[in-house]
Amino acid sequence: MPDPQAVRAALLGVIDPELGDNVVDLGMVRDVTVGADGQVEVKLALTTAGCPLRAQLTKDVELRVGSVPGVEGVKVTMGEMTVDERKALMARARWKVRDNAPETDIPPTTRVVAIASGKGGVGKSSITANLAATLAARGLVVGVLDADIGGYSIPRMLGVDGVNLEAGDDKKILPIERAIGAGRIKVVSMGAMRGAEEDEAIMWRGFMLNRAVQHFLEDVRWGDGPLDYLLIDMPPGTSDVQMGLARMLPRTEMLIVTTPALAAQKVAARAADMARKGYLRVAGVIENMSAFTCEHGESYPLFGAGGGVRLAEQIGAPLLGSIPIDPAVAVGGDEGRPAALAGPGPVADAFAALAERIVTEAIPVVEMTTCTARLLDSVEAALGPA
Ligand code: ADP
Repeated sequence: MPDPQAVRAALLGVIDPELGDNVVDLGMVRDVTVGADGQVEVKLALTTAGCPLRAQLTKDVELRVGSVPGVEGVKVTMGEMTVDERKALMARARWKVRDNAPETDIPPTTRVVAIASGKGGVGKSSITANLAATLAARGLVVGVLDADIGGYSIPRMLGVDGVNLEAGDDKKILPIERAIGAGRIKVVSMGAMRGAEEDEAIMWRGFMLNRAVQHFLEDVRWGDGPLDYLLIDMPPGTSDVQMGLARMLPRTEMLIVTTPALAAQKVAARAADMARKGYLRVAGVIENMSAFTCEHGESYPLFGAGGGVRLAEQIGAPLLGSIPIDPAVAVGGDEGRPAALAGPGPVADAFAALAERIVTEAIPVVEMTTCTARLLDSVEAALGPA
């Protein structure tokens, strides 16, 4: 039987993008029943029955709750809030806006995706960089946070250079931007935390390490306009960072990177376990360094085979893609030209397919439609100026 507490925690990750808070804290969850047979029923109350966010919220609840271990099926039913419930919701939303400034500058419509692995060297950073580039090439705005403090390599891989640290008392951190196709990437990295003085940089890095990633996240100013995805390149292994992230951003979803070797799969499973302990949803598995296919079409599974499929089965999350071994990945990473953008070929095709599955199915882009915002406006108008 699924753990009812885990089911509730999963709902903390379902955000009403307009009100910028999760459905539990907004009082939109009326009832949750967890059956011994693994069937879960979630009753949500919407602000208005015809809310255009209905389909999206339903899908989010299904994905989140459906990924809790032991859950066999999820049924979502929707009701409409009473006038009193609506008043309470709006009061809470108003209070949040006025007195409880959000801890981060990440828009509520942003899908936060942490990319993790059991150990270093499996290509987690390469996957993060190439996936970010592929999503941007589709016209999306993609933030990339290099939290792999030990081995920051993201700026080099994405060909961005510069200083993230903006001087000033409030120690704002501004991303470095680069246009890719119709979209753009916004990169923040420990590696780009260079001040004018190297000493200052060292101090900053130490400071950041101590404060840990969740504090680091508070200081980044992502800028105006949409931010469709925020990809976080996590430190390898199972660490406090996951837990910190879970506390601060329960809506974070994890992608676990593994190699085809079966030993690697076991290590990666621990990263997935850790994610689950923090009640983070594991949205899928990515296998990297899959079989190398030579120009004669012969396939060479240099790093073994089956790790991705096995891991996916073991942790009950889908295998979203397999990226082949190709020296172009390493060369492109060194030159700041992601291999995924290098035109048709096994690597670019694999990343295109991965991005397609993420955007359309595993972690869909948030569609911004209005229902509650309009309602909020009318309540604001009725209540007069704050
Ligand atoms: P991690 O972030 O997991 O430590 P990296 O992304 O830094 O791993 O990758 C480790 C090394 O493997 C790098 O030299 C990188 O260029 C190389 N690499 C990663 N993925 C591939 C791939 N699919 N084909 C060939 N080389 C790869």
